[in-house]
Amino acid sequence: MRKPLIAGNWKMYKTPRESLAFLEKFLPLVEGHTRDEIALFPTMSSLGYVLEATEGTNVRAGAQTMHWLNEGPYTGQTSPTMLASINCTHVLLGHSERRIYANETDDMVNWKLKAAIGHNLVPIVCVGETMDKRQSGLTEAVLRWQIANALNGVEREGSEKLIIAYEPVWAIGTGSTATPTVVSEAHRIIRREVAERLGQERADATRIIYGGSVKPENASQLMAQPEIDGALVGGGSLDAETFARIVKYS
Ligand code: PEP
Repeated sequence: MRKPLIAGNWKMYKTPRESLAFLEKFLPLVEGHTRDEIALFPTMSSLGYVLEATEGTNVRAGAQTMHWLNEGPYTGQTSPTMLASINCTHVLLGHSERRIYANETDDMVNWKLKAAIGHNLVPIVCVGETMDKRQSGLTEAVLRWQIANALNGVEREGSEKLIIAYEPVWAIGTGSTATPTVVSEAHRIIRREVAERLGQERADATRIIYGGSVKPENASQLMAQPEIDGALVGGGSLDAETFARIVKYS
């Protein structure tokens, strides 16, 4: 059984004060909700506050990115050791906005994934094709390439916590959600590739979640698909009531 994960990616929104105000409303709305795992990904400046405020609740918190090394002269970066030291449990890796605006490569995603595994963090590796690639019939090739590169040298043992987020670039922040059929097909491609790299058993146990304009209105239809093990939500996670409605999708 793959327990669904509903995760909110706050991107570069919310000061610590705004993050805590969100939690004040959100935590009571999802109190006792155990069907799905719930996680929030605030900015680095809010992460410590959110971790503290969610301690002992059913809501986890993670970082939106990290470096792969433990320390060094890398201005602006945060290391896996530093995340683990503040009891951060989850980390997003290779989000398309990082790939586009911070030039994150498949190699870097691979190094980060190995570092996350080494620090016992739950890694959520984001993959997805652009509209250009989809229209050129290259969706499968892109997804297989991204997964193969991310998992290069990753062993079956240690990859138990791996989560993959399928986030078609054309659906992120655009309001245009991929249909359940399109998402299911992409998730099957991803699962096949994970099976080739880590074996069928690990692939069957790996959660593959969908991200791209998930809203309260489309969450239940998406989550009804057996191939969809959760959602990574950007815009729809910024308002406490809206995100709680997504968490309680049915
Ligand atoms: C995201 O940033 O991961 C995302 C899916 O954004 P949105 O829900 O706004 O499309």
